[in-house]
Amino acid sequence: MSKSRRPGKRKRLTRFSSATDRRRYRVIAPPQTAIRLEGENAMKALVYHGPGEKSWTEVAEPKIQKPGDIIVKIDTTTICGTDLHILKGDVPAVTPGRILGHEGVGTVVEVGSSVTQIAVGDKVIISCIKSCGHCSFCQQGIFAHCLGEEGASGIGWVFGHLIDGTQAEYVRVPYAETSVYKVPPTVTNQQGVMLSDILPTGFEIGVQYGQVKPGDVVAVVGAGPVGLAVISTAGLYGAARIIAIDLDGNRVAEAKKFGATDGVNPASPEWREEVMALTDGWGVDVAVEAVGVPQTFQMCTEIVRPGGHVANVGVHGKSVDLQLQNLWIHNITISMGLVNANTTPMLLKLVASGKLKVDNFATHHFKLGDMMDAYDTFGRAAETHALKVVIDA
Ligand code: NAD
Ligand code: ZN
Repeated sequence: MSKSRRPGKRKRLTRFSSATDRRRYRVIAPPQTAIRLEGENAMKALVYHGPGEKSWTEVAEPKIQKPGDIIVKIDTTTICGTDLHILKGDVPAVTPGRILGHEGVGTVVEVGSSVTQIAVGDKVIISCIKSCGHCSFCQQGIFAHCLGEEGASGIGWVFGHLIDGTQAEYVRVPYAETSVYKVPPTVTNQQGVMLSDILPTGFEIGVQYGQVKPGDVVAVVGAGPVGLAVISTAGLYGAARIIAIDLDGNRVAEAKKFGATDGVNPASPEWREEVMALTDGWGVDVAVEAVGVPQTFQMCTEIVRPGGHVANVGVHGKSVDLQLQNLWIHNITISMGLVNANTTPMLLKLVASGKLKVDNFATHHFKLGDMMDAYDTFGRAAETHALKVVIDA
């Protein structure tokens, strides 16, 4: 226990929302969300209480549970569109009592007995994806399916989902040596927090899976934080033209600051012709879907050229009608996936060297104690023009 944390006896009290949760979590995940007992050390955190219900409230501080764990004091966190999905009740695996958040930069305040590469006082970026570093998927770099048992075996995204997350004063990070990255001195917290999720997501699932190559015309449907991360990183592989496509005119305009060369609003009946006119007439080399609805996936298949790639990044809640009878003859490759965050160290080097600029993502700033206001601003992004809200301790 480091000096920076208050000593004291702590016991955990677990809560279940229903008999179904109890059954499910007894099998795949030890319940880990605590309510505070008298005499326990307390911290504040954003707690999910069921669809539409959340509060910034007092809970027990996390503690080391396994030798590979560390405890991180959160210096900077943010909110993701996925957190809004959870709050709508779209992710039933998130049970009431869970602390939300899967992005964060913080300072290590305690390390487990087997941790040798990370020390108290280190400033780290917490990856949104756990990696045990040992399983067959981790050895292939497919951390998204890490077989480590923390949260659930086979599911890499655990923070603010299956274990307590980063929208809190402190967070426990399992498999720490392979799941956090030390922050170089030239990288600010605001820059670092963009590497927890959005940058690796845009780069890996949009640019790499889409096989962007020098000279390509890349269209990105959806210019939210994730689509803008695709736009920011498509140039790394030499995209010649990057077309931002979004219904929100403000976001299309913003996209130019991130590297988009052109913008198209799909509200226009001629939107498809406008995109085609930006190519040699045959369509884009790579169409990236960064919204997560059937319509935008369909749009990507309508603008991709023969031999091209459709890279789906969006999280879909409904089935999508795949027009195979039209597509098969066009030699199209379709890819999709959950971010692995295996490119985070490389992206971090580019941010540290100033080659990859990420400060434009940060549109609003809050203190941790103003978490509820931060949610309100982020939840009304169309009105507030929020991209990423940066929340500092
Ligand atoms: P967001 O909601 O902030 O942005 C979506 C954008 O799509 C908005 O700007 C909106 O105006 C635009 N849009 C909506 N309907 C449209 C339409 N018909 N045509 C054109 N534009 C339209 O979301 P985000 O945070 O940027 O995330 C984008 C997607 O990526 C989400 O589905 C999210 O869940 C997903 N995501 C996937 C992964 C992964 O690992 N695959 C990781 C993180 C996020
Ligand atoms: Zn693993």
